[in-house]
Amino acid sequence: MAKYIFVTGGVLSSVGKGITTASIGLLLKARGYSVTAIKIDPYLNVDAGTMNPYMHGEVYVTEDGGETDLDLGHYERFLDTNLSKRNNITAGQVYLAVIERERRGDYLGQTVQVIPHITDEIKSRIREVARDSGADVVLVEIGGTVGDIEGLPFLEAIRQMRLEEGFNNTMFIHVALAPLLSTTGEQKTKPVQHSVQELRRIGIQPDAIVARSPKPLEPEARRKIALYANLPPEAVFSSPDVEVIYEVPLVLEKQGIGSFVAKRLGLEDREPDLGKWEEFVSKLKSATKEVRVAMVGKYTKLKDSYISIIEAIRHASAYLHVKPVLNWYESTAIDKKELDPEKPVEENDAVIVLPGFGKRGAEGKIKVIEKVIDMNKPFLGICFGMQLAVVTIARHLAGLQNANSTEIDPKTPYPVIDLLEEQKHIDKLGGTMRLGASPIVLINNTLVHKIYSGKEIIYERHRHRYEVNPKFLDKLVSAGMIVSGYSLDRGLVEFIELKNHKFFIGSQPHPEFHSRPMKPAPLFIALLRAAQGLTPYITQ
Ligand code: GLN
Repeated sequence: MAKYIFVTGGVLSSVGKGITTASIGLLLKARGYSVTAIKIDPYLNVDAGTMNPYMHGEVYVTEDGGETDLDLGHYERFLDTNLSKRNNITAGQVYLAVIERERRGDYLGQTVQVIPHITDEIKSRIREVARDSGADVVLVEIGGTVGDIEGLPFLEAIRQMRLEEGFNNTMFIHVALAPLLSTTGEQKTKPVQHSVQELRRIGIQPDAIVARSPKPLEPEARRKIALYANLPPEAVFSSPDVEVIYEVPLVLEKQGIGSFVAKRLGLEDREPDLGKWEEFVSKLKSATKEVRVAMVGKYTKLKDSYISIIEAIRHASAYLHVKPVLNWYESTAIDKKELDPEKPVEENDAVIVLPGFGKRGAEGKIKVIEKVIDMNKPFLGICFGMQLAVVTIARHLAGLQNANSTEIDPKTPYPVIDLLEEQKHIDKLGGTMRLGASPIVLINNTLVHKIYSGKEIIYERHRHRYEVNPKFLDKLVSAGMIVSGYSLDRGLVEFIELKNHKFFIGSQPHPEFHSRPMKPAPLFIALLRAAQGLTPYITQ
């Protein structure tokens, strides 16, 4: 039977619940327990797919094609495991399921209510993940902040789970902010006290508190939090700001959180195996050789929009023991002529054109790629970045004037990127893109083939609607484009390269979603090697 750890948040959102959840999971895994993690999002969207990255950060794509919350990315990276779309439960999914059942007549005669119908649905979804994963421990992170109206049914459901699963099989961890007053330098605990009070009002007494603060918690602040939270001081942990998020599990482990959790759940406390993780963190922190990477995109003001790409660069950097310097360029500024497209290329050792949607900022990206080609700079275009690389090759090298993606210009004379026939008849936007992992056949002796160690078939995750238009392939190939990978099922273009260019790769799938701290994604290693003037791949 699985043990459950429920993680709630207090005072404000973005306090670090996701990283805390992932860290505790890692510490249990390091003790030999199998672990899975669920993110609950109390909003009414069915999934994150239709949400603006500015509101919600990156949409994380799972192996099975779920468009999920970015916390699933943290879980996958920390736990080194693939999760399912069912590991992201939203209020939208829960209400939709209950209402559909009501319409079918399954509740005939009954009044359908939040308690018990919604709460039952929540519990059954959590238990289903527990059952299917077979995990020893299931971490369940409740998104939002305690006190949010929309979060109430979820808190009620986990309160009930304590009764149903038993005290020894359930644990509540509350992550809350203890701010530091800049005027006096004093650590304030009142917000934590209040959020614990709110949690207790709902009927949940936390078993442990993780206090987030800029600096480590002072003994007096710890004592106060413990007292007001009705806990011994050993149950209060300090999670200060750290240089890299991967340090968080180590900081928490030092304070004994792993043993505390194991004991509390009646699990044998074992010596954690954290050697490799420590090595990874120390490589990350000790690297001094800088590699400058231009990050060209449309949502550059909120870095969370591209979090998996940033982490993938970090993993590859630790592996190569270099220090990545990410310089951000807003492509809409190039559209508006406020930024010279030569700058990102000139000022960096490599250029990444980021994924994206829609017209705004697209011409700016195309201009940057044109400079990349002229200046022979290492380049990686991901998803939309790859599609725009194809557009640039069409215009700049194949002489197809005004070539475009029909996503940007539906009337272009040369639709080198276009919708598949089947996509043209889809009118609903939610969950209808080409999503999830699928097999890709790599073409012998291409750069991409070598980077993926000569593998014939690889798997990467997708999230896109538009495709390279096969009608223009001959023209593009004559102009110097190389197709280095096709989808196994339908022969869709997956990777492109450019002849006589140092390093130029467009990737229709998102390689960043498979990158893990100790298993960096090959394309990012290759890019960072090329950025240093090395051969991109290591020949065996
Ligand atoms: N907008 C493009 C498409 O739908 C690319 C999507 C992306 O970059 N994730 O195909």
